Amino acid sequence: MTDSVARGRILIAGASTIVVLTGAGISTDSGLPDFRGPNGLWTKNPEAEKASDIRHYVGDPEVRRQNWALRAEGRLWANVEPNDGHRALLPLQRRGVLHTLVTQNVDELHQRAGIDPDRIVEIHGTTRKAGCLECDYRTDMKAVLDRVRSGEPDPACPECGGILKSATISFGQALVAADLARAQQAADECDLLLAIGTSLTVNPIATIVPRARRNGASLIIVNGEPTPFDMIADETVGGSISEVLPELIGT
Ligand SMILES: [Zn+2]
Repeated sequence: MTDSVARGRILIAGASTIVVLTGAGISTDSGLPDFRGPNGLWTKNPEAEKASDIRHYVGDPEVRRQNWALRAEGRLWANVEPNDGHRALLPLQRRGVLHTLVTQNVDELHQRAGIDPDRIVEIHGTTRKAGCLECDYRTDMKAVLDRVRSGEPDPACPECGGILKSATISFGQALVAADLARAQQAADECDLLLAIGTSLTVNPIATIVPRARRNGASLIIVNGEPTPFDMIADETVGGSISEVLPELIGT
């Protein structure tokens, strides 16, 4: 165990109200799809990347058809399982010190690892649900993919005929205001913020880090790369997240 892990462990053991903020780094060991690498999904299917921008998604039916087809074939977000990093957070919940888990991930792996869904803020939404862009219709992703597999390449909203989309926040879409407010309030109320696997460069959610610090909370950053907030952190911890988190949090 490194010195920073040992000191971080003491901070966590002494905290009574912990907010955890997670990003893609905690899910890397779960075999999430690679988007931008040499064999990445977007590298091989440049058209598919357009689906992540709300303007292309709404404006081009072909972008939607390709996106639904990739999902229906199980090439987007399928077969991913929680890893030791997700499970390492469970002791915080058992000890009653987990105030809120704010995640930038859309994979629902925290819920599947056993974190109480009521404690989770999915600031960028979830791929396990789909919703209508024009009305309040929302359903399980599986129900929409069943329609795609039965021959509807771009299924429309059954309520209003509008465009359906995975319930994630795309580039160009605003965050859900109530979710951001919940994350900010959690940052105000915690005595320790633990940021894991996030570059802390995506705003506005990254701003909860200095916000918590300003309110006197301790700050531990666990990430493979430096972040803009390392200099205000009590401890920064590198290394493999699924290996280092169990050491940091304990049982
Ligand atoms: Zn609708």
